[in-house]
Formats: sequence, C-alpha cells, structure tokens
Amino acid sequence: MRRHLFRWVVLTFLALGIAAWAQPAVNPPEWTRPMEPFRIVGNLYYVGTADLTSYLFVTPNGNILLDTGLPENVPQVEANIAKLGFSIKKIKILLNSHAHYDHAGGLNAVKQLTGAKLYASPADAQLMARGGKQDFAYGDRVPYPPVKVDHILHDGEQVKLGGTALTAHFTPGHTKGCTTWTADISEQGKLYRAVFVCSTSFPGYKLVNNAAYPGIVSDYERTFSVLRSLPCDIFLASHGSFFGLDQKAAELKKNPKRNFTQADPNPFVDPAGYRDYVARSQAAFEAELRRQRASKFGKSN
Ligand SMILES: [Zn+2]
Repeated sequence: MRRHLFRWVVLTFLALGIAAWAQPAVNPPEWTRPMEPFRIVGNLYYVGTADLTSYLFVTPNGNILLDTGLPENVPQVEANIAKLGFSIKKIKILLNSHAHYDHAGGLNAVKQLTGAKLYASPADAQLMARGGKQDFAYGDRVPYPPVKVDHILHDGEQVKLGGTALTAHFTPGHTKGCTTWTADISEQGKLYRAVFVCSTSFPGYKLVNNAAYPGIVSDYERTFSVLRSLPCDIFLASHGSFFGLDQKAAELKKNPKRNFTQADPNPFVDPAGYRDYVARSQAAFEAELRRQRASKFGKSN
C-alpha cells in the first residue's frame, strides 16, 4: 500500500515536472483571474485580468489596444470591452509591451477578430513572427500563435489615432524589443502624463557572457536611464503587480463621481511609486550583475 502510494507520488511529480518543463512555470492564478473593467483616466480604460494588463484607448476614429494577455485571456478582454459599452471590433491599432506569451499571446486572435494593424519594434516583431520561439532566455518553451506585424516602429515614434497619441520608447533587456509607451491624457481639463512600463525583470537571465544576447547589460543600463528620464503622473505597466493595480482600482472605486483634487487625486497618479519602481528595479539588476560577475559562472575563462 505504502509502496503504491510512493509510486503514485513519484509518477505525479514526474508528470508535473514534465508539464513544468513544457511550460516553464505553472501560470500564476492572477494571470487569468477576472477583474472588473474600469476607466483609468480620460479615454483610457483597463480591460485586462487581475495581473496581465490590457489597456484600451477609445477615440472617435476607432480604438487602440495595448497588450492582450495570454491566448486564453482574449474572451475576457472582449467581454470587458463590451461591459464598458464598447466593441472589440472598433480596435484599429494593436500595440504590445513585449513579445512574451503573457502579453502578446492573444494578438493573433484579436487581429483576426478586428482586422486591426499591429505595430511593434523590429526585434519584438521578429519574436512575434516566431510565436515566441527562439527567445534568447526561454528558447522554445513558451510558444504562442505567431502573429505578423504590419508596421515596424522606430524608437521615439508617435502612434496617433483620433486625437490620441502614444510614443514608443525602446527599453530592451527583458526582451530585445521591449517597448515602454507614454501618452498624455486629459480629463476635466487636467493633463496626465501616463507611462506604460514594458518590464525590467530578468527572471533567471544570464547577464554575463550571454552569447544569445551579447548586449544585454548595456541594453538594461540604457533602459534604466530612459525610464528615469520619462515624466510620469500615471504609473502603469505590463503586470498589475508592478504598480499596485489591485489597491489603486479599489481606491478609485470609492470615488465614482471622480471628484479629484490636489489633496485627493486619481489613485493612479503615483509619480513617487514610479520613481521608486525604477530605482528598485535598477538596484536589483545591479546586485544580480555583481553576483554573476563574481561567480565562477560569469567569468570569461
Ligand atoms: Zn515577459
């Protein structure tokens, strides 16, 4: 009996191990956990899940969607857009933070649903065309439906639709084409500068002597200086956990009339939180770089 139990446990672990290898980690539940959609500021709406962000810009000439989450999140994103009284079919432009499965996985499906044009950086356009395969860090482990990019962005390019303009800032490192977006958004005569951070994380990345990405360290260093230079009122990012989505959304709900004042601003206004995130990310990166440089693993000979 005991031996049978032991064998069952071993087989289960083996099965889990194989599953974990095919998909490097079991996705955290908050990646797919539904979240009530809401207006963040002006014409910008939150339509993602509890952690994988999707942002909708509504304009008189059609809408813009930034990120879709996982392939299986697309029905949720579509339902969230409908709940707000809009239609996914009105999306004309698709944008992406970076070409990993948890942010770009649904782009193919949304493109087919809408006929929207997909804009992306040169490096991440290649990764999207490969459906996430041959990633410098993940290899072929996290594929998703490949998607063709219609317009290759250049660094600093503005994407405009119906009076809304988003600017692409290349912030490579997490992927080679990681793109941080900024937009000026107004509400009740007040202008808000929004920053949508791509990602500065380096999950298990080889920073020293990385043959698949020789420029990784200088790219991250440049990215931190770009992020430090961006003016930010409203701090947003590709994962809700980066900027405290849960707490800020709950706070916003308490003020349905949106009577924002200097003393009681929109909770998404968080310039200090943004500066703190960038500083903490950079410190973590530098510590990991020192660790890898000091370890045998990082030495060149
Ligand atoms: Zn990623």
